Amino acid sequence: MQTVIQTAVLREIVPSGLTYGIDERRAISERGIPLEVRYITPIDKSLERVWEGRKNSGKNIFNKSGVWRRREALNFLGINTESYEECAANLVSLDGSEGANSGPFRLSNAAQYVGLPSGDVSFLYEGNNPSGSFKDRGTVVVATDGRRHDVKRYIVASTGNTAASMAAVIANEKVGGRYSRDVELIVIIPHGRVATEKLLQAQAYGAKIIQIDGDFDAALEMSRQLREIDPTMYPVNSYNPFRIEGQKTETFDIIEYLKQVPDWIITPGGNLGSTAAIHKALLDMREWGWIGKVPRIAVVNAANANTLELFYNREGVRWNHGDFDVRSVGEFYSELRMERASDRHRKRSTHMSAIDIHYPAEENMMKALRALEDTNGVVTSVTDAEAWEAKAVIDSNGMFMVDLASAAALAGLRRLFRAGNIERGQIVGVRLTGRDKDTGLSARYYNNPRMKHSNVPLQLPNDVEAVKNAIYVQ
Ligand SMILES: *Cc1c(COP(=O)(O)O)cnc(C)c1O
Repeated sequence: MQTVIQTAVLREIVPSGLTYGIDERRAISERGIPLEVRYITPIDKSLERVWEGRKNSGKNIFNKSGVWRRREALNFLGINTESYEECAANLVSLDGSEGANSGPFRLSNAAQYVGLPSGDVSFLYEGNNPSGSFKDRGTVVVATDGRRHDVKRYIVASTGNTAASMAAVIANEKVGGRYSRDVELIVIIPHGRVATEKLLQAQAYGAKIIQIDGDFDAALEMSRQLREIDPTMYPVNSYNPFRIEGQKTETFDIIEYLKQVPDWIITPGGNLGSTAAIHKALLDMREWGWIGKVPRIAVVNAANANTLELFYNREGVRWNHGDFDVRSVGEFYSELRMERASDRHRKRSTHMSAIDIHYPAEENMMKALRALEDTNGVVTSVTDAEAWEAKAVIDSNGMFMVDLASAAALAGLRRLFRAGNIERGQIVGVRLTGRDKDTGLSARYYNNPRMKHSNVPLQLPNDVEAVKNAIYVQ
């Protein structure tokens, strides 16, 4: 195998878009069009076998990593990827654990719940990432880009998992002596809306955490304002193109595991970084000639935070091959804010906190529209009740417990199958985005006898007769 040295640029996502240097540290062009990383030379498909072979090859942590064992596919640094020394000197990893062990899982209960044959549906579980969600795939890459710019202060608005993940990465780099002690992560979170364990991770890993009154959207806006005041702050949110480069490796996993391109990839949609990343992986692979057809992407919103669904299904807005009015996202958001403000009965939030996002970053919204158009995708939404039931079905397989937002993907698949969008015989990959860190809420579900899958522990005196009766009496 020859060494692949990539050179990369940042390019607008429209056809024949403007190009910027890879070192420009920008997410959007001066015309307001989002940028993405593009590679100059195609990558040979024979590398696929190399990537698979690396999995079990000794103690090189970059070969274990679900992100960096595919380092040729995101070699924006242009390093010699064969050289361990160059990898170690440049790449950031959570000791090779990001993106490892993600499946695929069959979860036959879940397939049955949808009504599809078990062999046709596969679940990719990202909860085995060190911080417990797919976010680790993106944050190690953001930290890699930040490291070469010698960034001292990172900033992130989060519903919890990105903060937990980036805090983990920075802590790990400091311990390894690769980041200096004065590097810090500023976390802006919506007060009272972040799962205890997500917040605890950020606390334990030493981030500077600021809880504000308001929702995620307010936190994201706050982080943007702070960056305007201090542009040296480095943004970790998924409008950062390097996050997307890391997250795209999850789609490589899906195709590698399934040994074929599925007909569908089902994803929950919050800030829509995942939607952008799935599509970016497909764009790259198609451009390099690795795949012919692309899977259709189905994005599942929470019913109470269904902005993409409204924009795409109700307003019928289309990317239109890039012939798109870039102001229209902002205009739609203003209209939606008024519409939502005047509707007093609207329930504003959802227990699916990871996708409790009402105004996804405009950069990602545009990338999501492009993804939907390019893959003939669909958007749907699910209620909390549907998500809780789907979560209980996934949990009942005995493999792991999932974040409620992950369960949205299964609930969405069920909806789409029932509506006839997804048909029997089609091969489906479902992203299970993270593990359950909201155990207090889950306890409320499983301890509530009115819930379909409740399982309330019996409370009995320390008395063998009473216990025996309880065991044998129906
Ligand atoms: C971040 C996150 C999501 C939402 O992903 P987006 O890329 O923001 O759409 C869903 N589930 C979990 C567990 C997450 O951490």
